[in-house]
Amino acid sequence: MKSDYDIIVVGAGPAGSMAARFAAEKGVSVLMLEKDRDVGYPVRCGEAVSKAGVSEFIEPDEKWISSHINNFALISPDGTEATIEFGDAGYVLERRIFDYELAKTAAKAGAEILTRAYVNGLLFENGVVSGVKYEYRGEQKQLSAKIVIAADGVESRVGRWAGLRTFTDFREMECCVQITASNINVEKNTLYFYFGQNVAPGGYFWIFPKSNNAANIGLGVSGMVGKKKSALSFLNNFMSNNFPDSPILTSIAGGVPSSITLEKISGPGIMLVGDAARQVNPLSGGGIASGMIGGSIAGRIAGEAILRNNLSHILSYDKEWHNRLGKRHEIFERIKNGIYNFSDDKFNKIAQSFNSIPKDKRTLGRLFTTALLNQPSLLVDIAKVFII
Ligand SMILES: Cc1cc2nc3c(=O)[nH]c(=O)nc-3n(C[C@H](O)[C@H](O)[C@H](O)COP(=O)(O)OP(=O)(O)OC[C@H]3O[C@@H](n4cnc5c(N)ncnc54)[C@H](O)[C@@H]3O)c2cc1C
Repeated sequence: MKSDYDIIVVGAGPAGSMAARFAAEKGVSVLMLEKDRDVGYPVRCGEAVSKAGVSEFIEPDEKWISSHINNFALISPDGTEATIEFGDAGYVLERRIFDYELAKTAAKAGAEILTRAYVNGLLFENGVVSGVKYEYRGEQKQLSAKIVIAADGVESRVGRWAGLRTFTDFREMECCVQITASNINVEKNTLYFYFGQNVAPGGYFWIFPKSNNAANIGLGVSGMVGKKKSALSFLNNFMSNNFPDSPILTSIAGGVPSSITLEKISGPGIMLVGDAARQVNPLSGGGIASGMIGGSIAGRIAGEAILRNNLSHILSYDKEWHNRLGKRHEIFERIKNGIYNFSDDKFNKIAQSFNSIPKDKRTLGRLFTTALLNQPSLLVDIAKVFII
């Protein structure tokens, strides 16, 4: 290992690996530090992702695909199930293998990777970030870098150390809990989303099927709700009503920022990617694909900045992210606020009127139209998604 690098990436999730790979592809020196022993583990994710979202970065491979998805089922509070068929829409992943494979693509591009390296501070030179402090096997160490990319997830501290405003109001955090359970007999090709005050107020409840009759089952509720009634109590309730005898293999809890991207995601010597930058889709809570996009943009720009010997070039990252996805996320956030405030009655009406449409004509567009008939003010925001 060298003592200084052009670029150091903190965190080896999907966003970090893409940042490391796209920077290394520019031929500059890159090191990615990961605090855990294994890249990809522990998994804190429902693991659902669109095919388009991953195949932009990696060739789909059965070894990290747990199930292929081509149906979405939306279940309203009175149990009405509205199903939409897609082509080959997406996957439920095996993230412990997926994340590992992504990190390998970074290594193939020339990035070095060190696990068990816990970053606990930054170095500064004249107020500019100039490297990291980290603990490795009980020893405190440090490394210099021209650019540090923070990919340290939702609990990120690196951006804050660098002086960026990373605070997210608890009202904009979804409190999530999830179990992976076995003996869950649902359709293998279908993602199930449940809505309503009794299952997930201000959010949704999901069943994402995995191979061998297992499934990721969980929910996210808004921070406002989570303060009063825990997400876990909703999950326990659902399981005892629906799958009382299903063994539970894993359980996790975590926050998902359902907000727009942070106002500033770059500064002198520092860039933020993925959950650390709040690059999650606020409507779905999905952050795998968008984090990979954020990471790829940041990595490429960081590499260019080194090659051009112009470090202020990294400040162009904010605008590029905003144009690619940030702007869209702002509109998704407004749509989310409209949809998640629907009453149970409204969800029921939407599902019922959607089901009156012939099966072969049920599309996501028709679902939105049905939702719009119940809440016309959403129209402006939805129109913007396609126009802007
Ligand atoms: C319950 C739940 C369900 C979800 N379901 C989905 C879903 O179905 N689909 C979807 O797209 N998204 C989902 N998400 C969101 C998704 O998991 C994240 O958006 C995604 O993992 C973000 O990727 P990332 O690379 O930014 O961060 P992460 O994947 O969190 O990776 C951050 C990495 O940084 C490391 N790290 C942290 N601090 C340090 C440090 N100081 N030093 C060194 N390393 C450090 C961590 O160990 C970790 O490996 C879900 C989230 C939760 C909580």
